[in-house]
Amino acid sequence: MNILVINCGSSSLKYQLIDSNSEKVLAKGLCERIGIDGSLLTHTPAGKDKVKIETPMPNHTVAIQLVIDALTNAEHGVIESLDEIGAVGHRVVHGGEKFASSVVVTDEVIKAIEEVSDLAPLHNPANLIGISACQEIMPGVPMVAVFDTAFHQTMPEKAYLYGLPYEYYEKYKVRRYGFHGTSHDYVSDRAAQMLGKSRDDMKIIVCHLGNGGSVSAVDHGKCVDTSMGMTPLEGLIMGTRSGDMDPAICDFICQKEGLTPAQMNNVLNKKSGVLGMSGVSSDFRDIEAAEAEGNQRAKAALDAFYYRVAKYIGAYVAAMNGVDAIAFTAGVGENNAIGRAIICEYLGYLGTEIDAEKNNIRGEERVISKDGSKVALMCVPTNEELAIARQTLELVK
Ligand code: ADP
Repeated sequence: MNILVINCGSSSLKYQLIDSNSEKVLAKGLCERIGIDGSLLTHTPAGKDKVKIETPMPNHTVAIQLVIDALTNAEHGVIESLDEIGAVGHRVVHGGEKFASSVVVTDEVIKAIEEVSDLAPLHNPANLIGISACQEIMPGVPMVAVFDTAFHQTMPEKAYLYGLPYEYYEKYKVRRYGFHGTSHDYVSDRAAQMLGKSRDDMKIIVCHLGNGGSVSAVDHGKCVDTSMGMTPLEGLIMGTRSGDMDPAICDFICQKEGLTPAQMNNVLNKKSGVLGMSGVSSDFRDIEAAEAEGNQRAKAALDAFYYRVAKYIGAYVAAMNGVDAIAFTAGVGENNAIGRAIICEYLGYLGTEIDAEKNNIRGEERVISKDGSKVALMCVPTNEELAIARQTLELVK
């Protein structure tokens, strides 16, 4: 069965068409600037040249129709007709406490996603627009919602409650949820497989280090803690997000700079992290290049980033009372050998050491610790789209 995986943002839409038998990507692409002038569809069919189509996309329904047209096009298409799409898997950012696993989309599910939307006001409404656009164009094709938060719903109360008046949890569901769950789930499972084990018998720490980043503790197959919170702002220092900090800073800066809470929120999400610290870029490659040229702020930002990751690993070793494997994934985790080595320098106390030669890889599955290490250090490329396709198949077959 061919499964269309959709990741819909407010003005963008990413897609992959995956053959669930071979698990091969038949085509992938991106619609940008939906609802804005200069809309662009970039479509990449497997084994053929990439095509760019510039045409107005006033809304997501038009964008989805263009995606279907591209997939079925005589020249750059990969299927003959819509009938060859057996199901659609949608990435949905926030499932609140309602969703601990993926679900087939029904009217009740849509209502429930709407109900938790105030926890992710920028993301969930866009995800719902993607679902309804697909329903309009592909009536009768089953749809599945796969939540970023679902894998973390096994966290115990002691890990998810904030040190706040309990009534905020009761009234507004203010608690820690965690994100990147599809990736933490996929990578922890894959790491165990690579070691010839089941993750149900292991303690695994996954470091998802991309533009956004989070660490999770997966104890015998279940997530017991993760670094992101009610929103993706908590935890690691990220590309543009601050991560953990003294919450009193918000009021202090608002007063000094005359910012509203919404403006402060924007600073914390979009202008902080390694971008704000270095003043160079949110892209780790640019910051590394600046560091190599002697830029001290770039060096300080990278040092702080790696140090924070190492601290979270230490915290999760404590949370699980041990660890068997530590897996690095996402843009920085998969590609940045130097970064992995710097983080692992902090981990000697665990009886593990990185092997410089094995670590000299980009985007490849490999154990990167020295033979005989008590804890396996690993590079495990994530594949969220494949994970969404697998979960979709599971629910519709
Ligand atoms: P997201 O999905 O959150 O946008 P990604 O997982 O794609 O993020 O990761 C993007 C980050 O990965 C960027 O900061 C980029 O600099 C970094 N990255 C990608 N390739 C490399 C590389 N070869 N070396 C260092 N960093 C890299």
